[in-house]
Amino acid sequence: MQILTNDPGFVRTTPRSWQDEVKRAIRTLGELRQALGLPAEVDGGKAAEAASQAFPVFVPQPWLERIERGNPQDPLLLQVLAAAAEQTEVAGFGPDPLAESGMQVLPGLLHKYQGRVLLIAAGACAIHCRYCFRRHFPYHEAPRSESQLQEAFERIAADPSIEEVLLSGGDPLMLTDPRLGWILRQLDGIPHLRRLRIHTRLPVAIPARITDELQAALRENRLQPVIVIHANHAAELDEQVAAAMLRLRSDPRITLLNQSVLLRGVNDRVAELAQLSRRLLDCGVLPYYLHLLDPVAGAAHFSVPEEQGLRLMEELRSSLPGYLVPRLVREIPGQPSKTPII
Ligand SMILES: *Cc1c(COP(=O)(O)O)cnc(C)c1O
Ligand code: SF4
Repeated sequence: MQILTNDPGFVRTTPRSWQDEVKRAIRTLGELRQALGLPAEVDGGKAAEAASQAFPVFVPQPWLERIERGNPQDPLLLQVLAAAAEQTEVAGFGPDPLAESGMQVLPGLLHKYQGRVLLIAAGACAIHCRYCFRRHFPYHEAPRSESQLQEAFERIAADPSIEEVLLSGGDPLMLTDPRLGWILRQLDGIPHLRRLRIHTRLPVAIPARITDELQAALRENRLQPVIVIHANHAAELDEQVAAAMLRLRSDPRITLLNQSVLLRGVNDRVAELAQLSRRLLDCGVLPYYLHLLDPVAGAAHFSVPEEQGLRLMEELRSSLPGYLVPRLVREIPGQPSKTPII
């Protein structure tokens, strides 16, 4: 496959739709290596192929364009490159690290914390992150049909203690605008809801996802929108992402936050974390959480020890204003909130 964007003579005249970007995303290790001029042994050969069978490679072009060609240690590459290390079994790392399967009140509806429910609104993602804690999640059990979603809405409507619905996934912005618009209107109709939170990596993975229709759906909704993007490194936030954030900020009701995962080889140095926070603010986004890696099978090689996380936070606090310092947290199954690491 020819990667047009790596061709210096190529000038793009009309921006591609986000759906086109999903269609033309890279889906194999071979294509990824070829596009970036990387040697075949970069990922560890056969075991990496096996890893990409278990959890396919999926890299959209806008992400690919931010990776430095020929650099096997590029922090954006490491997030998407299937690696032999994923096949190593490590004690303590399992398929369902957060015991989420037991927390579902309905398929795809998780009620862990007071006042908030999480609805797995979509099974797909626009990028496959190798450290993903839901990489083994049974997405086929997530609600898909309108009647299944309706059941979830009825459950939410029956519990007046719920103030906020989090749309998560997968990635909820993989839904089409008409479908998302319908979900938003249903939620709008539940009187005790106040806030709508969307957890998504799409504005970073494919900035064209911030469409006029999406913006209109948010604007026309009574619920206060909070959009939590997921970026782990400043290099993810290029000018297209900044422009997408600016479009979102044209609606003053929208709050933009970021959550990251602390990842070995990606963002485990204070300079990188500080740069990420600064760049987020350039884009009008405030850092929210920095998660310690959930112990999901296949991701142990990304793990950063808690003591190192604490040290990084101390250094970060002494180099940045307080509002640019995310909260270092870990998720412990059964706890009433994320657990701060202090
Ligand atoms: C993380 C999470 C939330 C949100 O927690 P906040 O601390 O409000 O960001 C809600 N529900 C579930 C199931 C979660 O995993
Ligand atoms: S976008 Fe989120 S849910 Fe999807 S693979 Fe990446 S981390 Fe996992």
